[in-house]
Amino acid sequence: MLNVEDINVYYGAIHAIKDVSFRVSDGEIVALIGANGAGKSTTLKTVSGLLRSNTGSIEFMSEDIMRTPADKLVSRGLAHVPEGRRVFAQMTVEENLEMGAYTRPNAEIAPGLERVYAHFPRLKERRRQVAGTLSGGEQQMLAMGRALMSSPHLLMLDEPSMGLAPILIEQIFQIVKELHEAGTTILLVEQNAQMALSIATRAYVMETGKVTLSGTGEELLHNDDVRRAYLGG
Ligand code: ATP
Repeated sequence: MLNVEDINVYYGAIHAIKDVSFRVSDGEIVALIGANGAGKSTTLKTVSGLLRSNTGSIEFMSEDIMRTPADKLVSRGLAHVPEGRRVFAQMTVEENLEMGAYTRPNAEIAPGLERVYAHFPRLKERRRQVAGTLSGGEQQMLAMGRALMSSPHLLMLDEPSMGLAPILIEQIFQIVKELHEAGTTILLVEQNAQMALSIATRAYVMETGKVTLSGTGEELLHNDDVRRAYLGG
């Protein structure tokens, strides 16, 4: 579904990602893990067209998307939930969700809302509430729900657990697992390596802009280097 080969991205003189390659196949949940500043978010932003690589290639659904504008990628089925959520604070929960369906025919809005509310009953209870007054965990749910409204082939999640209490982190990961089981292909960026590896079919470890290791979630959970660096020994 997604094939990334040898991409390089710079912020001015900073070489943020270096010859990064990875792939996500249909039906997988793939995790990118690594420390702060390893280049994980930069990688997602490059896939979703917000940043550009001058080298290598990016293919999504067998098409070259290296030069495709970000908004076109949404209608082709690529959804990106950025770090820090960014819901429309003045709009209600339901209005936020409806905005997520802007690339879809009107007839799909009602069934889309039903599907999102089935995964996130909390959002249904709060559908008339203004999004800016939701808790951090609820805003994360809303950002994920809004992305689902575009009926994506690939859902990219950037640090969904960031800033959440442990109980909410469990809930968010449980929902990510359910979305995957319901047929959504997922690319997940996380600093919470334990949680990410425990649900990932495969994962890649990034260090200072490079992919240094890859394997199944299970293999990396038991890898000594990964345990020492990311799982507290
Ligand atoms: P985090 O989890 O902390 O977001 P990350 O692995 O996602 O980490 P990136 O955000 O991709 O890392 O950052 C990779 C490198 O690029 C870092 O050294 C970071 O300081 C740098 N960087 C990121 N965004 C910018 C920017 N807008 N301008 C300059 N440097 C940047």
